[in-house]
Amino acid sequence: MSGILKVFLRLLPLAAIVSAGLATLPACVRTEKEEPRFERFFSWGALPDEKDIRHALECGVTDVILPASQTKQMSRAKKHGLTVYASFGPHGVHPQQMSPDEERERLRLESGNGLVLPPKATPGQRSEFRDKVTSYQKSVHYHFGGEPDPANVGKEVLIYRIPCFNGPEAMEKMKEKLKTLCANPDLDGIAFDFFGYMNYHGCYCETCRVLYGKYLRKNALPDTEKSRDAFFLQCLVDCNNELAAYIRSQRIDMKVISHVYPVFLPEPLYGNRLDLDFCGQTAAWYFLWSPEKIRDYTKVICEQEKKYHSRSAGLPFIGFYDADKRKPFDYKSPERLELELRAILDAGGRNLMICSPNDFWDKKEYRDVLRKVMRKKEGL
Ligand SMILES: [Zn+2]
Repeated sequence: MSGILKVFLRLLPLAAIVSAGLATLPACVRTEKEEPRFERFFSWGALPDEKDIRHALECGVTDVILPASQTKQMSRAKKHGLTVYASFGPHGVHPQQMSPDEERERLRLESGNGLVLPPKATPGQRSEFRDKVTSYQKSVHYHFGGEPDPANVGKEVLIYRIPCFNGPEAMEKMKEKLKTLCANPDLDGIAFDFFGYMNYHGCYCETCRVLYGKYLRKNALPDTEKSRDAFFLQCLVDCNNELAAYIRSQRIDMKVISHVYPVFLPEPLYGNRLDLDFCGQTAAWYFLWSPEKIRDYTKVICEQEKKYHSRSAGLPFIGFYDADKRKPFDYKSPERLELELRAILDAGGRNLMICSPNDFWDKKEYRDVLRKVMRKKEGL
């Protein structure tokens, strides 16, 4: 018997005593061997009744993002101990401008490739029209502002119009709106959404063209794709950070969070550049991504969360819609949702953001999945 093995055997009873002791420790003491779980769960979407709030609490939701107009829901969620945010999108003085080709693609997606709703359409005709548009979007693998299908990169655009948020006039307008929101005592924070470009890389409006010209002159840069990407990335970062600083100047206790959307294709995971409290970045979109991709993205989101700002915490985002109700999206079974959640946990994610759990609050099999991966709270 080797000396090392003898020492090991002498230590065995000690190891047994230590492990028996650990088993009697209070639940709040965590051991290394404990299964990883999510600590914090950010949920996008309305919570219209007490039953939804109960389901959210049972599933470990800690933070909820509600439409800014839902003040009654905000105060009710707050009474239940949830941290409450109002969602906030870009405001400006004109819409973003895309190239003629990009605008044609947007119209094609919006109209289901040229379908026309008859004048004075009946509700039945409207429903039929929506179904046909949806079928078209599904047939071309439209991904609604997330990373496009590889075959659609360079062509796909967002069907929703977003105001241009660049320039001093837009900034003033957004600060005015935020000032009002910050006065609501039921709000713990603001959640940014839709701060991105409709064509996933930039805007061609007059304001942006003038700002871009100044940027090139100031930095002595040529007009190249690289310069354009760097400029429009800087615009996104500066806009988010200026708005976040303004919110803090209004109320020092206000949290600022975000979901980075629509995607910025030159650098999809730029969110760690934003000086926010939590920055939601897509780790799993509404369409089925490989577990490897989910893990790789989570690592960037979490391991590099403080690369630019000491305040920021990484927040992996999962897109989930009920494909029976919302047909253009991929179906995610409870097993699939669990696979995505576990891929994020494996890669080190401990905060979670989902849009929208409203689509599964009434389905026990999905709630059971969330209960398995969330850290248990006292009393539940
Ligand atoms: Zn613009």
